[in-house]
Amino acid sequence: MTSRGSGSADVKGPDISLGSALRDTRARLSQAGFVEARLEAELLLLEAATIGRATLYAWPERRLDIDQSRRLDDLLRRRLAGEPIAYILGRTGFHAIELDVGPGALIPRSDTELLVDWALEALPAQAPLTCADLGSGSGAIALALARGRPAWRVLAVERSPRALRIAEANRHRLGAANVQLIRGDWLAGIAPMSLDLVVSNPPYVRARDPHLSRGDLPFEPAEALASGIDGLRDIRRIVTQARHALRAGGLLLLEHGRDQGAEVRALFHRDGWRAIVTRRDLAGLERATGARLPPVTNTRVH
Ligand code: GLN
Repeated sequence: MTSRGSGSADVKGPDISLGSALRDTRARLSQAGFVEARLEAELLLLEAATIGRATLYAWPERRLDIDQSRRLDDLLRRRLAGEPIAYILGRTGFHAIELDVGPGALIPRSDTELLVDWALEALPAQAPLTCADLGSGSGAIALALARGRPAWRVLAVERSPRALRIAEANRHRLGAANVQLIRGDWLAGIAPMSLDLVVSNPPYVRARDPHLSRGDLPFEPAEALASGIDGLRDIRRIVTQARHALRAGGLLLLEHGRDQGAEVRALFHRDGWRAIVTRRDLAGLERATGARLPPVTNTRVH
């Protein structure tokens, strides 16, 4: 591959087959250290050539035309510069849905599907419940819940107008009539005791964590990632606010950092929550903690 000119991304002339383009692209990505080089090469090629996988593998000798070849060069150059694959493709899969994504919203992670599965199994499927997904970003959690539970009403709360536009495009394309987008700051504008479930993947990375400058993160909105010096600023606010917004017995499910489980459980304990449970992600790391409000609260003034 290096003999074709390793200094520039546009190594492919117009007369190249799909099969060779796939091999070249994969080699460029793996030389640059991308661990998912094979998968990403395929995704970039399918996008550039506007073909499906079946065409690629049934007809690998087919030639790329000049536009397809230029597009592939362009997409590969962007990926080599570190741009997230999901932003380059403009979409990603999450739970059972496909979402539009863009630089204004966090890229949904597979770890976050854990929150969706937890909510789906913890609450009655047919009841007309009201849920809120806080800091909804692209709308991932809200839309996955709404798809799985047509009887629920799901509020997708988001502060960033840019993210809200992405969420609205997703809501519209998925025809999610039971999702309502709300511009807001966590639960500040939500009526007291109006929710059965609050779920959130809030920012939770420590402000000085070197992780913020690695992988996809430098391209994602900082406000969706970092949360004060200990990473818990927003989680604290959500735990406090959710006490008022949830009905008695209501459930709060929060994603957090792999090393924040004990601190989040302690926060819930101090605030009088019950049934405090932490679940692990696909890598076996503590990734989400849930708790319920006591069934009857006698501290409220009605
Ligand atoms: N899990 C993400 C990461 O570390 C962070 C997402 C978040 O802060 N909510 O890449």
